[in-house]
Amino acid sequence: MVSRVIPVDPFDLVVFGATGDLARRKILPGLFRRYIAGQIPESSRITGAARAEMTDGAFRTFVASALEEFLDAAKRPDEAVKGFLAHLHYVRLDATGEAGWDRLAARIRRDVVQAFYFSVAPALFGDLAERLHRHGIATASARIVVEKPFGHDLDSARALNVTLAAHFAESQIYRIDHYLGKETVQNLMAVRFANILFEPLWNARHIDHVQITVAETVGVGGRGAYYDTSGAMRDMVQNHMMQLLCLIAMEPPYEFEPGAVRDEKLKVIHALEPVGPEDIVRGQYRGSEGRLSYVEDAENPGSLTESYIALKVEVANWRWKGTPFYLRTGKRLRARASEIAIVFKEVPHSIFGDEEGWRENVLAIRLQPNEGMTLSVMIKEPGPGGMRLTEVPLDMSFAEALGAEGADIPDAYERLIMDVIRGNQTLFMRGDEVEAAWAWADPIIAGWEAREDRPKGYDSGSSGPEDALMLLHRDGRRWREIRE
Ligand code: NAP
Repeated sequence: MVSRVIPVDPFDLVVFGATGDLARRKILPGLFRRYIAGQIPESSRITGAARAEMTDGAFRTFVASALEEFLDAAKRPDEAVKGFLAHLHYVRLDATGEAGWDRLAARIRRDVVQAFYFSVAPALFGDLAERLHRHGIATASARIVVEKPFGHDLDSARALNVTLAAHFAESQIYRIDHYLGKETVQNLMAVRFANILFEPLWNARHIDHVQITVAETVGVGGRGAYYDTSGAMRDMVQNHMMQLLCLIAMEPPYEFEPGAVRDEKLKVIHALEPVGPEDIVRGQYRGSEGRLSYVEDAENPGSLTESYIALKVEVANWRWKGTPFYLRTGKRLRARASEIAIVFKEVPHSIFGDEEGWRENVLAIRLQPNEGMTLSVMIKEPGPGGMRLTEVPLDMSFAEALGAEGADIPDAYERLIMDVIRGNQTLFMRGDEVEAAWAWADPIIAGWEAREDRPKGYDSGSSGPEDALMLLHRDGRRWREIRE
């Protein structure tokens, strides 16, 4: 299969926070991969900006070392690295002061696509937007890319939307959620809307429940102080998991076009029921074998912040009434695995009697590791001796199905940055979506804060707190195993 590289127009991309962790690990290596793919037009420029004093040359050396650190040697031929570095420049500036902005203005062209990536702390988003505007740098078609977290609650998200709207139109604002840039997540839409097979079954009559799992093995480590002000609900559920839920639950948009897709997602968020305390399990990892506990990592002995959360969520509309969505995410779990599992109902009547090996059909969508999908179906066990059934997976691993093309799936960030350059907002969150998600999450968080709810302890390397098992057991269901 030949992968089609769709050309983009020449652009000026400014990465604010270009010396930070995200830029080094994701944004700059991602841009390099797009350069190799032929998507960085010759006259395009990538300008890094931060407060550190640096020449263009020093910045190129800095980026070269990031490429060495985060890309295999085979994937960064010297000639390509040299060619890519020639596109890079650096401007020293302070988001909160005036120094450096005129230098940036002199560097940035007005007759090419302009994109400004805000890879800095959210407290600086407003400063950047205002100065881009005030110094006359951004044109009316410029795009800004805004990192997570987008607000801490509804009020702060609203305030940020208002600040950004003072300088940029909604059509210019790209709120990034890198989960939406994952190949499998987009494939979820392709599977749903490009095949006749699934859509007739995609409802409460045929789907028993949905499980969305985002499990990590790492703890909060060096990010402890920040994470302790956030917790799993704010860090993962309100944004990433909510987006996944929306893509599963939304009605078919009339067209794969930003407004249409985002309208449908928004309707799902509006249809979410409030979640009561009986449908929430929060956890905190304990220390073990020389590994610190959550409260030690967070350096907050009395912390009530959750490093794990499981929720039963209901979508109150005709399609989904009666089909719960169980969400769980946590740190220091037994494996790093993210998966969406659509668990179908059993057949209405078994002509084979009560079979031991009987299992429901499950469409499992793996987001990491090894992006791919598996549909489990029941077949007859081979050989004589009657009709014994067994479950087999129809496996669609992208790496296997698509050969080298599948193995070299673009990272979420590189795909999303190219969408920004193309001016395609489909995979970015609209302001009203983010606000609606906070409007759903805020009362849930306020509820456990008012109850001074203590998260349940769980062992590092486990599947989370015992109570989370009960969330499904009491409904006659069970979590799928967390495994890589
Ligand atoms: P970071 O490592 O702390 O880097 C921050 C960057 O901002 C540095 O380049 C810093 O350089 C620059 N900066 C700080 N203050 C500045 C100012 N006043 N004016 C101009 N530049 C300034 O942060 P990060 O981890 O890369 O995160 C960046 C953003 O991405 C944050 O919004 C974060 O929430 C989000 N994010 C990060 C990750 C991740 O994996 N790291 C994942 C998801 C989202 P100087 O100090 O030299 O100015």
